[in-house]
Amino acid sequence: MAAPTPTQAEMSPDALLDLDRRHVWHPFTQMQVWPDDEPLIIERAEGNWLIDVHGRRFLDGVSSLWVTVHGHRRKEIDEAIRAQLDRVAHSTLLGLANVPSILLAKELVDLVPDGLTRVFYSDSGSTSVEVALKMSYQYWLQRGRPEKARFAALGEAYHGDTLGSVSVGGVDLFHSKFRGLLFPVERLPTPHAYRWTGDGDCLEGSLAAAEKLFQEKGRELAAVIVEPLVQGAAGMLVQPSGYLRRLSELCRKHEILLICDEVATGFGRTGTMFAVEQEGVRPDFLCVAKGLTGGYLPLAATITTDEVYSAFLGTVAEERTFFHGHTYTGNPLACAAALANLEIFRREKTLDRMRPIIERLATHLAEIARLEHVGEVRQRGMMIGIELVHDRATKAEFPYGDRVGHRVCLAARKHGVLLRPLGNVIVLMPPLSLTADEADLLASALRKAIVEVTETG
Ligand SMILES: *Cc1c(COP(=O)(O)O)cnc(C)c1O
Repeated sequence: MAAPTPTQAEMSPDALLDLDRRHVWHPFTQMQVWPDDEPLIIERAEGNWLIDVHGRRFLDGVSSLWVTVHGHRRKEIDEAIRAQLDRVAHSTLLGLANVPSILLAKELVDLVPDGLTRVFYSDSGSTSVEVALKMSYQYWLQRGRPEKARFAALGEAYHGDTLGSVSVGGVDLFHSKFRGLLFPVERLPTPHAYRWTGDGDCLEGSLAAAEKLFQEKGRELAAVIVEPLVQGAAGMLVQPSGYLRRLSELCRKHEILLICDEVATGFGRTGTMFAVEQEGVRPDFLCVAKGLTGGYLPLAATITTDEVYSAFLGTVAEERTFFHGHTYTGNPLACAAALANLEIFRREKTLDRMRPIIERLATHLAEIARLEHVGEVRQRGMMIGIELVHDRATKAEFPYGDRVGHRVCLAARKHGVLLRPLGNVIVLMPPLSLTADEADLLASALRKAIVEVTETG
């Protein structure tokens, strides 16, 4: 197999880079400074490693933006997609069914908490949230409660980048510019102790605020949306234990539907298959995407109850239909990849296998937590955030424009690890297939990078 791939044959790395600069507009990226950082062009991967066009190898420390589960190029997933290619690549779910989407729906229903029985497919985390928002809104209309038309969300929520999901989003840097386009949303305080400024302690204070809001406005609320256990894009903010369970009880009491957005936390990231399991919560909607296909193909699902589903039943003339669908909904290739992904969890007992790795990372992180400019280290399973601060005593932040998080991630590259920060929070979200040696490398590269940038840099 000495034959070069066409890109290598036709294009030098420099020529590729030149074309990228000319034509590709990268997401969440200031394009004016993008070329300054010697962009990497990834060409292939092996296991938990990404390899660029120069043949340099990097440990994929953020699972290619939180999606890769069992590593890249897993034979079983590769083969499942190839086998599906020999049958059909795509066929619509609008008025037709297809085999992999049926099998996957059954698998998902078996996997999620009891009572979640109906699977509505779409193609991204954002769309899975749009679906939950629209379904909950229409649910109350069709139950004869049209006044229940508003939503509540957490202060620093992130639920995607389409307008509905941005409306419920609360990360000012990303979302405030678009406020003029968005529907208004009630806010619950972010339940995060490190920067808690509300009354009382974080857990009791944030629940008291929720109870107060529900008493005042619960009658108008269709649903509350939360990222369970960990608010990812807000900076890996870990919720106090008990928060989700008690919030879900408040929702039940006030007849408010609960949407749990497990787009980031789903598929083992927090140590259990779904984060809601750790709090014994069965939401009315569970949104999944990122890890669903093992990081191979875009696919999402919004999983709901018979109770919600039945509110949409009626004759055609009654117009209770859920008029929503994306063209590639239930794509057979993506569903085949997802089935293979879930089969690996079962066969390899991934959740058991990763437990000592999570412990090993925790041990390393305890060391890193002592560094001069580390404010807080947060970990829930394989989801980790290291918040860098200018001053540990006052928790004063580094100025946004200093790009300290970004510089730490660039420094980590020199030590063979690819990371992507969220502001001044360094995110580690390795594939669940991370080995002990790789965990050691990840931690040592991170430690060196933080020291280089914040202590000597
Ligand atoms: C990434 C993410 C989304 C959006 O998913 P996309 O596939 O990028 O649209 C939604 N919710 C959470 C919690 C996420 O982390």
